Amino acid sequence: MPDAAARGVRGTSEGKSSGEIIRMEEIRKTYDTGKVRVEALKGIDLVVNKGEFVAVVGPSGSGKSTLMNLIGCLDTPTDGLYLLAGERVAGLSRDQLADVRNRRVGFVFQSFNLLPQITSLENVEMPLLFGGVPPKKRKERAVEMLSKVGLADRMDHKPTELSGGQMQRVAIARAMAMNPDIVLADEPTGNLDSTSGGDIMSVFTDLWNQGSTLIVITHDASLARRASRVVEIQDGRILKDGAGAAA
Ligand code: ADP
Repeated sequence: MPDAAARGVRGTSEGKSSGEIIRMEEIRKTYDTGKVRVEALKGIDLVVNKGEFVAVVGPSGSGKSTLMNLIGCLDTPTDGLYLLAGERVAGLSRDQLADVRNRRVGFVFQSFNLLPQITSLENVEMPLLFGGVPPKKRKERAVEMLSKVGLADRMDHKPTELSGGQMQRVAIARAMAMNPDIVLADEPTGNLDSTSGGDIMSVFTDLWNQGSTLIVITHDASLARRASRVVEIQDGRILKDGAGAAA
C-alpha cells in the first residue's frame, strides 16, 4: 500500500479536514407493499468524508442495496436527515433528484450496464451528454477517463468486443466522467473471475490514491480488505464501522 505522502493531499491534515460528503442521521426506510411492511433500515447514522474508500458489507437482506439507493439518490428515506455534499436531498422533486445524481454520483453496477450498440468512448460520453457538456469537451474527457482505467487502446470497441473486466473498466470510466463527489459501486466484481476482479480492485485503489471518494457494496472479502473503512450492516442497522486494512 502507498504511504500517506504518496497518496497526496489526503495524507495531510488539510486533506483530512477537506470535508464531509455524506451525512446521514437516523435514516429509516420502510417498504410498504400494502400487505407487508418491511423496515429495511432502522436508524442509520453515517458520515463519509472526502477521500474515503468505504466497503459496505453484510448478509443478503441486511439493507445494503437500500442504503446504496438512498446514498445515490435513487430513492428517498422514510425518515431521517440526509445531506449530500451539504445539500439536503429530502423533499426534492424527481427532476431535482436526477440532477443531483448526475452531478454528484457515479454508479458502477455488477452487470456493467453499458449500451451494447455503441463504443466504449460513446458509453463514457453518455453522462456528459446528459450533463450538457459540449461535444469537443465530451470527447476529451471520455478519452482522459478511458486512459485512466487503462483502456486507451479500446476506445472504439463495443462492449461485445471486450472482456468482462474491460467492460467494468469502461463502466468505471463512465462513472468518473462527470467528476462526481462519490463513486458508488454495487458488487462490482460479482460477475468477474478472480483475475479480472483483481484488476478492478486495482483500478479502485488507483482512483482512491488519486483522491476519489468510493463506496463499494461487496461480498468479496478481498475487495473489502482494499478499503480504508469497512461498514458492516445487519438487519437494517450498522453493526460495525471501523478501519479497513488500507487505512
Ligand atoms: P441487501 O442489499 O443487503 O440484500 P436489501 O436492501 O435489498 O438488502 O433489502 C433489505 C430488506 O428490504 C429485505 O428484507 C428486502 O426483502 C426488503 N426490500 C428491499 N427492496 C424492497 C422493495 N422494493 N419492496 C419491499 N421490500 C423490499
